[in-house]
Amino acid sequence: MLTRNRSFLYENSFLRKKLGLYNWLHKTDNLKVAPRTCKIGDNATVIASIDNNSNNRELIHLGSYNYSGLSGNHEVIAAAQESLNDYGTSTSGVRLLNGTTDLHIQLEDKVAEFLGTEASAAFSSGYDANTATLSTLISPEDIVFSDQLNHKSINEGLQLSGAVVKRYKHNDMEHLKFRLQSYPREQRKFIVTDGVFSMDGDICKLPQLIDLAETYHAFLIIDDAHAIGSIGTCGRGTASYYGDLASHVDIITGSFSKGIPAIGGYVAGSLEAINLIKYASGPFIFSASLPVPIVSAILKSIEILESRPEIQEDLNRKTNYFRQTLQQLSFDTMNSETPIVPILIKDQQLTFEFVKLLHLNGIFVNPVCYPAVSANANRIRTNISTALSYQQLDTAISAFEKIGKQLKII
Ligand code: PMP
Repeated sequence: MLTRNRSFLYENSFLRKKLGLYNWLHKTDNLKVAPRTCKIGDNATVIASIDNNSNNRELIHLGSYNYSGLSGNHEVIAAAQESLNDYGTSTSGVRLLNGTTDLHIQLEDKVAEFLGTEASAAFSSGYDANTATLSTLISPEDIVFSDQLNHKSINEGLQLSGAVVKRYKHNDMEHLKFRLQSYPREQRKFIVTDGVFSMDGDICKLPQLIDLAETYHAFLIIDDAHAIGSIGTCGRGTASYYGDLASHVDIITGSFSKGIPAIGGYVAGSLEAINLIKYASGPFIFSASLPVPIVSAILKSIEILESRPEIQEDLNRKTNYFRQTLQQLSFDTMNSETPIVPILIKDQQLTFEFVKLLHLNGIFVNPVCYPAVSANANRIRTNISTALSYQQLDTAISAFEKIGKQLKII
């Protein structure tokens, strides 16, 4: 019989700090919006219950990571279905042992070719890809320079590495330079940054980062989770967005759950680095590999992105249209340059009010509040997808305008 008081579990200041993040998530529960499903064939909408009596209704979906619009694509589904019949739902093993099939190898070759690197490794999530990479390549003797707004999985990977971490101000190259200058050339250094920042929708300054990495003798790692299938030629990500810079970046990590409509993650770079990560990282050795139907869905998605540059062009046009129209209405879209378009509200209560009214007006969006972002930067985050029609974007813009005026935000 359990005799300890169960609240003992929660009497932990670290846990309480972590739970702080969920205070506002809990408030989003009170918005009474429970997204249920995206309908196959119409990925621009979401079925959600927006009141307490569980009446479902269809909302225009401005909160999905489906940037490329390939979620629900019939060719992608057919590829997964075919593999499902051939390979079943699980590999029943880890990558290092029986969990590697011919298709896992094909996927890694394809990702490397698509991104312009020598090799790549596939993981079961983007989160794993980051923690595996950072905890394997970086050690307690190293110094890491990490952008203040980097994703949680980067912070966790760095913690596991045991290295000294120096944060630099978000996208502030002068501050990074100042930090780098304090260490001798022989000190092993790493610069780690998101490619596309998931809350602000801006892009890291890759050309300057490459210059600084070369000048100060540092390795450069970028996390392109929100960049693949979202920016660059055919959705190749940040290095492609700035030209063809992949060969100047040591490691690119990313996710298959956003612009690529599946699940999983990748690490791409030199063959030497990839082999190290494969054979010395926990998730590759001790965690089950991606199911083959998922691998097939990813392969088909990359094939589609590669052969149809018009998908990325359409996404760029729709994103620019949406962002510019909101800016003309005097909304503050911060420094967004990607399909992630934040609308800065500042006040937390007002942010929730705005989100609730948008839901009632048939538009699904997510609030992003403190402590996920700083206390005076509470915002609505929208994500643009090629699946959205201009008519749907116009409907959303009209709702933003009406509610923005009603709440005296514009
Ligand atoms: N990096 C960034 C920047 C992300 O935003 C995310 C997911 N939100 C991840 C990594 C983790 O990716 P995944 O969902 O595939 O685990």
